[in-house]
Amino acid sequence: MQRITMGDAIFLCQPDETVLQTLLRENIPVPFGCQQGACQACLMRSLDNPPPESAQLGLKDTLQKQNYFLACICHPEQDMNIALPNQQGAMMVADVVKKQLLTPDIIQLVLKYQPPFNFFAGQFVNLQRPDGLMRSYSIANIQLAQNSLEFHIRRLPNGQFSSWVHDELVLGDQLSVTPAQGACHYLPGRAEQALMLVGTGSGLAPLYGIITDALAQGHSGPIHLYHGSRDLNGLYLIDEMRELTDKFDNFHYTPCLSGLDIAPDHVKGRANDLALASVASLKGWRIFLCGHPEMVNQTKRMAFIKGASIGDIYVDAFHVEQSFLTLPKG
Ligand SMILES: Cc1cc2nc3c(=O)[nH]c(=O)nc-3n(C[C@H](O)[C@H](O)[C@H](O)COP(=O)(O)OP(=O)(O)OC[C@H]3O[C@@H](n4cnc5c(N)ncnc54)[C@H](O)[C@@H]3O)c2cc1C
Repeated sequence: MQRITMGDAIFLCQPDETVLQTLLRENIPVPFGCQQGACQACLMRSLDNPPPESAQLGLKDTLQKQNYFLACICHPEQDMNIALPNQQGAMMVADVVKKQLLTPDIIQLVLKYQPPFNFFAGQFVNLQRPDGLMRSYSIANIQLAQNSLEFHIRRLPNGQFSSWVHDELVLGDQLSVTPAQGACHYLPGRAEQALMLVGTGSGLAPLYGIITDALAQGHSGPIHLYHGSRDLNGLYLIDEMRELTDKFDNFHYTPCLSGLDIAPDHVKGRANDLALASVASLKGWRIFLCGHPEMVNQTKRMAFIKGASIGDIYVDAFHVEQSFLTLPKG
């Protein structure tokens, strides 16, 4: 019999029982669906040891690496300390050390934290301000000695959190930060695979992190970035991207403008259309899609139709509705 620890509670998993069956027997309200490892509704994470491999069947490699597993097909082989995806531990407090406009609407925010804090570039965290208002933002940098987290935050008209970050947050202020979440990040292992990255607006944030990570880890396959906006005001880090193309033969950058005015050295069209039209087949490619949910979902479908395997498509859709998260103060 194995011990299952969840928060402060400890349960005994009977022989032949799955983790889900144990939790349901103990009347713990956890989400579940098919109970056959297909719907992934009972996704959980092991906080200490890797879960049994058989409990990770069908999960994305990035989730497997983070010790996620499906409770309904998990027969524990040892004691486990587990959590639901949204209950993964305490928040940390981080200091605002940099605020700089990248475009008239997008600001670079850099926070400094006290280690330990683990993340993959491209994952997201929830940032919480002192009154409890919380929103999700994607991490644009890799884990380095500086112990910093970089975000690109677009101001939404009347957006509560984004406007506050742009107008009121100042250097030295503190924000609470949840543990990093999400499967949209780079994993080494298939270094020769072709990568296609498509983003709109501040969707460049996770892509920038993923590209930096892939290049730092010696990815040798071609890496194609398509960054799109309606007009030139919406594109940023253009010089940095061009410098990367000079430095790495395998990195290719296409800044895309979908409006009427096309600046020199930019391509006319929507980033996702141009990316999809650039290759005959996406079979064998690894795809990263970030930013506007409609663009992300549409391109995911098209990439699959064009031959990419679903397991090789990583998305970070910036849903606004779903991020109306507030927690009571304190
Ligand atoms: C996984 C994830 C990652 C993300 N990463 C990023 C990122 O890296 N960069 C980034 O810029 N964003 C990112 N986002 C989006 C971000 O979380 C916020 O949703 C966004 O910044 C808007 O928050 P806000 O508080 O400013 O706007 P909100 O106050 O939430 O408002 C959003 C919009 O709805 C309108 N609105 C608000 N209330 C109402 C109402 N009652 N009726 C009608 N309209 C209303 C507002 O005018 C505004 O235009 C991400 C989202 C997710 C889910």
